[in-house]
Amino acid sequence: MPLPLVAVTRRLPAACETRLDALFRVRWGDDATDYDAARMLALAEGADALLVSAGDPVPAAVIAKLPASVKVISTFSVGTDHIDIKAAKARGIYVGNTPGVLTDATADIALLLMLAAMRRAGEGERLVRAGKWTGWRPTQLMGTHLSGKTLGIVGLGRIGAATARRAKAFGMNIAYHSRRPVPEAETLQARYFANLDDMLPQVQVLSLHCPLTPETKGLVNARRLALLPKGAIVINTARGGSVIDEDLIAALTSGHIAAAGLDVYANEPNLHPGYLNLENAVLLPHLGSATTETRAAMGLRAIENISAVLAGNPPVYGV
Ligand code: NAP
Repeated sequence: MPLPLVAVTRRLPAACETRLDALFRVRWGDDATDYDAARMLALAEGADALLVSAGDPVPAAVIAKLPASVKVISTFSVGTDHIDIKAAKARGIYVGNTPGVLTDATADIALLLMLAAMRRAGEGERLVRAGKWTGWRPTQLMGTHLSGKTLGIVGLGRIGAATARRAKAFGMNIAYHSRRPVPEAETLQARYFANLDDMLPQVQVLSLHCPLTPETKGLVNARRLALLPKGAIVINTARGGSVIDEDLIAALTSGHIAAAGLDVYANEPNLHPGYLNLENAVLLPHLGSATTETRAAMGLRAIENISAVLAGNPPVYGV
């Protein structure tokens, strides 16, 4: 019997490609490809499993037309907002993701953005590189430090809690909003707010760590930004769709929000052009999980999900 066929949208870290090649026949996609419905369906033709990445949309319209041979959609990400899970379930197709292994890497990026936004690192780097630095000045590029500030976390899950632990080491106080209180909050001495609007006036830094769902779409809007104190900082390593870009750009322009640190955007990679000229926006290209160790672990977890389903079991990390 021929080995099962796995269709993979993107090239993966070497260890993952070696493992896939050892276990399956593999149809490799192409990093330069933008996966519209036609391309995704062409890739999936005759496949037993589909391995996609965070930027590859698998909407209901694609799921409806996937060949009956496809038994699992395994995503190389913990986020699953690019896949219509309900539609997959309705067709009996499993969906698997890669929770846990990207927690530390993404929390590191949240802290990196927090530090960069609060200490104006992007502006400083641009000044040096432009040859415009005229020397140390007592009033040059003054930022604000983390210690003593209150960090408001939206979604105290794996990455939110890992970010809170790091922020505590920097001397920050922690507040959080999730749909329910989290036991770990006690060790973090984190104050729970059942209502996000009640938390906003109490925090100097807001950091998003919730999944993108219909509930969290557009969560950070003009009304909520106005509830933050003047000079607050906004960090987003979750998903771009949770922020109304025009509203954040207006608040960054007026100075009500002192700075933002963003790793994720609506409509990646075509982020809202309004961010590009804002000195007080620190912009990263979705680097949350981008460490060698994490990307390899994500790939192996995505492969484990496929192996489990093709052996007749549910995915190890099922959604
Ligand atoms: P997780 O452990 O499931 O944490 C998500 C948290 O959000 C949970 O505590 C959840 O709690 C909470 N939540 C869900 N719906 C909410 C709502 N409507 N309002 C407030 N809180 C809500 O997931 P994770 O592993 O930490 O990952 C979180 C997200 O980070 C992922 O979904 C992904 O989009 C993003 N991410 C980004 C990168 C990157 O490269 N930048 C890397 C990894 C992950 P309840 O369900 O109890 O409310």
